[in-house]
Amino acid sequence: MFLKSFSGGVHPPEHKEATEKKTVENIAIPHECFIPVHQHIGKPAKPVVEVGDYVEVGQVIAKGDGFVSADIHASVPGKVTAIKEHPTPSSSEGICVVIETHGQFSASQSKKNDWKNLSPDELKEKIKNAGIVGMGGAAFPTHVKLSPPAEKPIDTLIINAAECEPFLTVDDALMKTSVSEIVDGIRITQKILNVNKTIIGVESNKKESFKLLESYLNTLDTKEITVKLLKTKYPQGAEKQLIQSLTGREVPSGGLPMDSGIVVQNVGTVFAIFQAVVEDKPLYERLITVSGSCIAKPGNYKIKIGTRLSDIVKECGGLKEEPVKIILGGPMCGQTVNDLNIPVIKGTSGILFLSNKDIDISDYHPCIRCGRCVFACPINLLPYEIANRVEVTLYEETKELHPLDCIQCGACSYSCPSNRPVSHFIKMTQQYIRTQKR
Ligand code: SF4
Ligand code: SF4
Repeated sequence: MFLKSFSGGVHPPEHKEATEKKTVENIAIPHECFIPVHQHIGKPAKPVVEVGDYVEVGQVIAKGDGFVSADIHASVPGKVTAIKEHPTPSSSEGICVVIETHGQFSASQSKKNDWKNLSPDELKEKIKNAGIVGMGGAAFPTHVKLSPPAEKPIDTLIINAAECEPFLTVDDALMKTSVSEIVDGIRITQKILNVNKTIIGVESNKKESFKLLESYLNTLDTKEITVKLLKTKYPQGAEKQLIQSLTGREVPSGGLPMDSGIVVQNVGTVFAIFQAVVEDKPLYERLITVSGSCIAKPGNYKIKIGTRLSDIVKECGGLKEEPVKIILGGPMCGQTVNDLNIPVIKGTSGILFLSNKDIDISDYHPCIRCGRCVFACPINLLPYEIANRVEVTLYEETKELHPLDCIQCGACSYSCPSNRPVSHFIKMTQQYIRTQKR
């Protein structure tokens, strides 16, 4: 079968075998949750509770501040014991609302609203009130992404179910259990965007999920939603590469998918949209893959937002050995952390406890100009040339090589025989140029 793909990219070891056959398990409710008020792109939310307040699960504890922001909800019922600085994925001193768990969870999730009677604006308001953000890791507020300007007409919705990062299997697990909810979430999103064409992209290493989606769509006899199999290749799930693979359209340099008439949503996000609109359920818990050679019980777990990594490690049977690296997200473009007090947030798709068997952390060496990074780059940049200039602090001289087009996928670093942190060098010059622009 011909599989859709894009130019460039790499095929790192998939490492999905530890969790890809595992069903979703619940992690025990933590005794204490540390819920950051800044879990999304945009301004942090403002706390609307005080120390000593009792809160119910799903209650708003911090209100989105401005258009590009998102509400934050209590993930456990209990008493607010502090609103204080605490390490978070985005800051060593982010503000967290600390809740000590008391009381019962309410059973409001059995509710079923008929979304078909709601207008696009009413649907969007429900999504906003539920604090939904992009679940693939970017954490961009979803109500903003679903409000493209009138001069950017949208004709196609793309659902990102590629899950191209090694180790991660949450999207796969979700598709195996929640096909009808995902499709309802797509229909709600279509109504908001006023589009009647959706393509779901699934990588070829998730054939069971692909078949489940295909069979379900066949029973609906719809031509509006189709599912396509993509070549298993990294970074297949990057927005521009996904659009190229599924539609052949090129998003212009410096542009966004909406410049090509497209909105991309992660499959986990449309599931969260379904829960927000149909079940009135805010985003206070999510599926997370916990994996890597060091964790005793790898799996796909449903975890309350604000649960600390230390509590998750205990629930997953502890560590078999000291990890050489702990990563939030996937190993290619996830975030390295070194503090188990950090809580998970809405954008946390994976927690990896990696040993030397999983990852090469040896020193890097000079560039031998082999060109492998150039072949790997899906954006057709000259990664080695940018990195080599950054290494000798020639930041100004990198501008002509368009480093701002780099999507930080890490394919160049992965392919480098000298183990050079090429994408890290490129990130440095991106930060330099963006600071200059500000
Ligand atoms: S892959 Fe590494 S060694 Fe080869 S050209 Fe790129 S940076 Fe240099
Ligand atoms: S230069 Fe950027 S876009 Fe190209 S492979 Fe490296 S990280 Fe990815």
